[in-house]
Amino acid sequence: MSMKCEKCSQTAVFEQPTLCKDHFITYVEETVAKTISEQKLCTKENSVCVAVSGGKDSVSLLVILKKLGFKVTGLAVDEGIEGYRDTALDDLSRIAQKYDVKIRVVSFKEEFGKPLDDVVEGRYPCSICGVFRRYILNKYAKEYDVIATGHNLDDEAQGVLMNLTKANVDLLKRTHIRSPEQKGFVPRIKPFAYLTEKEILAYALLNSFDLHYVECPHMYQSLRDQLRDVLNDYTLQHPGTKEQLLEAGMLWSKKEVTAEQQEGHSTDLLVPSYAQPCPSCGEPSAKEGLCRACVLKKEIAEE
Ligand code: SF4
Repeated sequence: MSMKCEKCSQTAVFEQPTLCKDHFITYVEETVAKTISEQKLCTKENSVCVAVSGGKDSVSLLVILKKLGFKVTGLAVDEGIEGYRDTALDDLSRIAQKYDVKIRVVSFKEEFGKPLDDVVEGRYPCSICGVFRRYILNKYAKEYDVIATGHNLDDEAQGVLMNLTKANVDLLKRTHIRSPEQKGFVPRIKPFAYLTEKEILAYALLNSFDLHYVECPHMYQSLRDQLRDVLNDYTLQHPGTKEQLLEAGMLWSKKEVTAEQQEGHSTDLLVPSYAQPCPSCGEPSAKEGLCRACVLKKEIAEE
């Protein structure tokens, strides 16, 4: 027997909350608006750069922020992975046209001289990809007030659990829905932090975004994937677990660091200062001298 929407007499399309198509779409958009205002993520006066990959999360975020009246522009990174990113970029250009938003694409080739496919031999693709992607996002989002990412509640809860299992207190301390102001960095916001992966997937399907999901060939069964399954099973028995993990991470991020902890565990408990500009590109560097992206760029150019 089909369920009825808890707000009207229409058939429900989603179970928890039990809502029909229209009320579910409204619920998702209102949750985003509430998260933005309650967590003071940004205002309608701010310019928002949405990091878009072409997946359901970032596309839904771009569309919702546009619908809510925010000044949005998309920024996509083309890593240069054959058969993977091309499909997502095609989807993005269709979405950009349909919803009248600008999307800028920056490629590894134009920024670092070579596509990822040409530099992965003998390297772990995801680590070089991560350094270059973060670099491009921060560099090209400089003209905006904030970078919005499509991280959802599942991503955040998995991240907290992962950092706990690895005792990575430094990363745990960086659990934020809005990253703190830090010299050289554009603040990052996560308007989907209180929506689950399932809710975003349903939103994307109900809006017929018609995205082609293609898995990156370098994707492998990660610790995150394993924790996702464990966490989903556990949450079925104990609803609210994901929200509590996010809350725990955010409480930890506010934790005061005592003088004793500073002496004994200075690298563990303090948010590292990335304020030093790289002497080559001017982007923030974790330590004195060239930033990680410039070191890798130099290595690649010499090959
Ligand atoms: Fe980059 Fe693919 Fe690794 Fe993701 S899975 S970080 S896209 S190489």
